[in-house]
Amino acid sequence: MPETLDILIQPVAQSRIEEVDFQNLVFGRTFSDHMFIAEYDQGQWQDLRIVPYGKIGLDPALMALHYGQSIFEGMKAFRTDEGKTVLFRPEKNWARMNKSARRMCMPELPEEVFMGGIKQLIQMDQAWIPTQEGSSLYIRPFMFASDEYIGMRPSEKYLFVVFTCPVAAYYANPVRVKIESHFVRAAEGGIGAAKTAGNYAASMYPAQLAQKAGYDQLVWTDAKTHEFVEESGTMNLGFVINGNFITPPTGDTILDGITRMSVLQLAKDFGLGVEERRVSVKEIIQAHQNGHLEEAFGIGTAATISPVQCIGYEGQDYELAPLTEQSFGMRAKKYLTDLCKGRVKDNHKWMTEVA
Ligand SMILES: *Cc1c(COP(=O)(O)O)cnc(C)c1O
Repeated sequence: MPETLDILIQPVAQSRIEEVDFQNLVFGRTFSDHMFIAEYDQGQWQDLRIVPYGKIGLDPALMALHYGQSIFEGMKAFRTDEGKTVLFRPEKNWARMNKSARRMCMPELPEEVFMGGIKQLIQMDQAWIPTQEGSSLYIRPFMFASDEYIGMRPSEKYLFVVFTCPVAAYYANPVRVKIESHFVRAAEGGIGAAKTAGNYAASMYPAQLAQKAGYDQLVWTDAKTHEFVEESGTMNLGFVINGNFITPPTGDTILDGITRMSVLQLAKDFGLGVEERRVSVKEIIQAHQNGHLEEAFGIGTAATISPVQCIGYEGQDYELAPLTEQSFGMRAKKYLTDLCKGRVKDNHKWMTEVA
């Protein structure tokens, strides 16, 4: 390892862990003791350090604030029943972070910086990994443009930061979704495949309108025709129709979710027919009317599987039966939970142990 990649460690004088009520964790509000920071300047990642979690000073001319070069990841660490600390497919997050970086004209992160930084941070804050059923340590790596300049060009300086949050089991209440047929999340050639801040900023207004109309979330449709379903706000979508698992293909407009790719593999493992193809709104409504729409759910890191209870389309609400224990969605969710707790064999080598 080159010398610049040594990580400087500045531990907290006093841990805050005693102040945390692990029985009542609110998602995204509790931050572990430390954070990892790396700086990119003069074409190099440097000044790698783990320091107490806390404020970072920002210049008003910080480029990320003006032009939005900002990308992030979301992943989780778990404590297995045997007490090991494990990460779920972290190399996929690393690859996706770099894919987002390329699209946004930001520098890629070498494996030693992304993986090395995260592993050392998790090791230091291991005590923050909650152990209650379904809980985990949520990891938020992100990178943003840190040049102080208001000219319109890619920044030359960046900050990569990772912090973590202990989170409770996410009891996914079945969601009411509205199929969006006016607003657009992503278009061919756009930035939908990047986990970049602007995508979420752009989705807030349409999502708020849907919430005012009594829905929890939107289902985005393709920008050109609004005939094909794409994904939800921060989740991919899966359907079981006639015993087949169907999910729209990822590409320019659909984020390549790691939970989605895992659930797709599980559908094969569990012997379901698997179709990765475009799904029209019409097909879903028809399948629902014919009684062939067996399951519909969101797929993502936060909840793993979020059952859909109602689909709203053009003023009409289509109600779905709750997912049973035997449903594919609930079996996949249970398998992934068990895997992260070390209770089932890791057939696909999805788990990485933090030494
Ligand atoms: C993060 C995200 C997902 C889910 O990806 P996972 O890797 O499974 O967490 C899906 N869609 C969007 C738009 C996302 O930002």
